[in-house]
Amino acid sequence: SGDFLEQLKFKGGKLIREQKRVHAINGVDLEIQRGEALCVVGESGCGKSTVARTVMGLLHPSAGEIRYDGQRIDDLSTQALMPYRRRMQMIFQNPYASLNPRMTIQQTLEEPIRLHHPDWPRQKVADKVAEVMASVGIAQDWGKRYGHEFSGGQRQRIAIARALAVDPEFIVADEPISALDVSIQAQVLNLLMDAQQQHNLTYLFITHDLAVVEHFGTRVAVMYLGRVCEVAPTATLFATPRHPYTRALISAIPRLEDDRPQHIRLEGEVPTPVDLPSGCVFHARCPHADARCREEVPALIASDGGAQVACHAVEEGRLD
Ligand code: SF4
Ligand code: MG
Repeated sequence: SGDFLEQLKFKGGKLIREQKRVHAINGVDLEIQRGEALCVVGESGCGKSTVARTVMGLLHPSAGEIRYDGQRIDDLSTQALMPYRRRMQMIFQNPYASLNPRMTIQQTLEEPIRLHHPDWPRQKVADKVAEVMASVGIAQDWGKRYGHEFSGGQRQRIAIARALAVDPEFIVADEPISALDVSIQAQVLNLLMDAQQQHNLTYLFITHDLAVVEHFGTRVAVMYLGRVCEVAPTATLFATPRHPYTRALISAIPRLEDDRPQHIRLEGEVPTPVDLPSGCVFHARCPHADARCREEVPALIASDGGAQVACHAVEEGRLD
């Protein structure tokens, strides 16, 4: 998503926080179950990265709350947040920005371990680093090298190893493969799926790519302009998308055995987040919009197959 800029960046070897324009999110109510991969999908500017950063505590919500294992974490002090910082790790889109160019790979991997396990002896730290590097498929000769000496795909593997080094339970991955060469995207995706099995991980996976979701996600949340349109188990979403926006997205996936009806073409442009439409944020582009849609924000309501849909037409039974 091009108009998002990383909030954490390395400049002159120092990690700095940059306050960048973020896209407003509103009424986003998501629950992630242990062991699942919840994919948040949507076009650039829909607010999905804002969701990721808010969950991680990198952004503070102006309203609402974030709970982890039932415990509210959005208002904790830095000190109280520390155990959660270990349990929750983030993988960013850009493996170039997320590795400190002045640190060797050994130092990069040791840093989070020392932070969260200050009592570990040197050898135990070194063993852990070797173990996670081997688990991401970078087996030897990396310790004294720097990030720039590795390819994009290898750098993302290193970033994944760094996240795994502190034995997290929950990983937020914001477009972790979209900056990578297409030829290596599948490898990195497979690595993330293997890691999920091996380490019992729960994922919040942010992507603009529905093809990725279909292979990776347990459930999918579709976002449009800062709101969740539809949440459903992955199989349900692909077999029977309900929300008009989800239908349009799914109909646009190119497939070999294409026996589906004509692609649904969306008219008009995505409005800018500073000039949000009234009522349903999708109404200007929706073929089923009526007067109610232009005035009233649709709530996310339970539908068939474990889905939740925010659409008046679906609720009224105007859509099949
Ligand atoms: Fe379309 Fe209305 Fe449903 Fe929004 S609420 S998606 S405008 S039918
Ligand atoms: Mg983004």
